[in-house]
Amino acid sequence: MNPAPDARAATADVVVVGSGIVGLGAAYAAVRRGLRVIVVDRTDGPSGATIRNFGHLCIGAQTGEARRYADLSRELWLRLSADAGFWLRESGTLVAARHDDELAVLEAASLHEDPRGGIRMLDADELLRLAPLRREGIVGGAHIATDLQTDPRAAAGAIVTHLAALGVEFRFRTAVTALAAGRVDTTRGAISTEHTVVAVNHDIDQLLPEIAERRGIQRCALDMIRAAVSLRHSLPAPLLTGWSLVRYGRFADAPETAQPTARLRERLHAERPDLAALDLNQMYTQLPDGSLIIGDSHATATTTSPFQPEAAFSAFLAEAEALFDMPAPRVLERWQGVYAKGSTEFLVERGDDGALVLAATTGIGMTTGLGLAEENLTAAFGWAPALEGTS
Ligand SMILES: Cc1cc2nc3c(=O)[nH]c(=O)nc-3n(C[C@H](O)[C@H](O)[C@H](O)COP(=O)(O)OP(=O)(O)OC[C@H]3O[C@@H](n4cnc5c(N)ncnc54)[C@H](O)[C@@H]3O)c2cc1C
Repeated sequence: MNPAPDARAATADVVVVGSGIVGLGAAYAAVRRGLRVIVVDRTDGPSGATIRNFGHLCIGAQTGEARRYADLSRELWLRLSADAGFWLRESGTLVAARHDDELAVLEAASLHEDPRGGIRMLDADELLRLAPLRREGIVGGAHIATDLQTDPRAAAGAIVTHLAALGVEFRFRTAVTALAAGRVDTTRGAISTEHTVVAVNHDIDQLLPEIAERRGIQRCALDMIRAAVSLRHSLPAPLLTGWSLVRYGRFADAPETAQPTARLRERLHAERPDLAALDLNQMYTQLPDGSLIIGDSHATATTTSPFQPEAAFSAFLAEAEALFDMPAPRVLERWQGVYAKGSTEFLVERGDDGALVLAATTGIGMTTGLGLAEENLTAAFGWAPALEGTS
């Protein structure tokens, strides 16, 4: 049972609103500076986008600001995994190419030097040795070295437990209703604080509607499946396809790849308008229990439709069966995830009340969220580097 509001401390150095990966990153940054941190979330544990994704930490496919946050996140993910004791692997990412134009994009990207580990081209035989795919249609692929994979449901819970052990107080089943300078109002009383961080993902339009409207934030709803599969061997890394290449900055925006990627998008959309209408990112991650996460579709609106058309799920299963050398997958779970979508990749703002507002405003918050929080809290609050020896 939650204690009465007045039985709990009503002051903190840092109050974080939201216990998703961005809020957890903010709490981690603050507690490593020896600060007293309270995380407030209206749910009884992380249950937003942070537990609904692929667990794909897709570092090598980012550019610019996203790559900077992703590189910093990578260090933080590795450290958290070791200290909090959750599964995470330095798997890299595999990309399956089924057309020469997909190889052309990968080749253009692979020629670009990346000191932190780049993209290595694979011929069809090598890819087929690594990934349990059908031979038909595969023309080659690539391995992106820097990427990581985790199980998002297990990771989020373990990070909460670890942060609580470091001294972070979590106030779950408590909604934040208003922010003022030095104060956070919640459904269980007010908290006085030196710093406030808002990390509420798409629900920023509920708490700070002016910022959401000015930044054009909408909700992007994604359908997902987890299925039991019989593969000839397990998938050693997240697997992307041509439908993924057209989405990520490293391929879609970088000068050396933008043109071949535009041609690839044109061909995919002309050949498969049904999949283009779903705004498909055909990709897969296999969890330690052997089940396969399959996704995903994208539908953007201010309010998400609660109705999930079967077309997306049917397409996921048909495409998975065509790509992998396996009998029909058996669906274990279907769900919808939502993330904030804006015209830029990130929202970093100071509200009128002084709160630092952070969100990944495209679908890469699991990859970038820890670094987004670390870098921006340090800059906004004028902090020194984190205390050494505090993990
Ligand atoms: C299906 C899907 C697949 C994805 N795949 C990937 C992937 O493979 N790799 C990748 O990098 N990214 C992926 N993403 C994106 C990534 O999951 C998100 O960008 C990231 O998890 C967002 O984290 P967050 O902390 O901002 O939000 P969330 O995890 O949604 O957390 C926000 C929290 O704020 C709380 N909250 C909101 N309002 C209030 C309030 N007023 N008071 C108290 N609490 C409040 C909510 O309860 C929630 O717990 C995917 C997203 C989805 C949906």
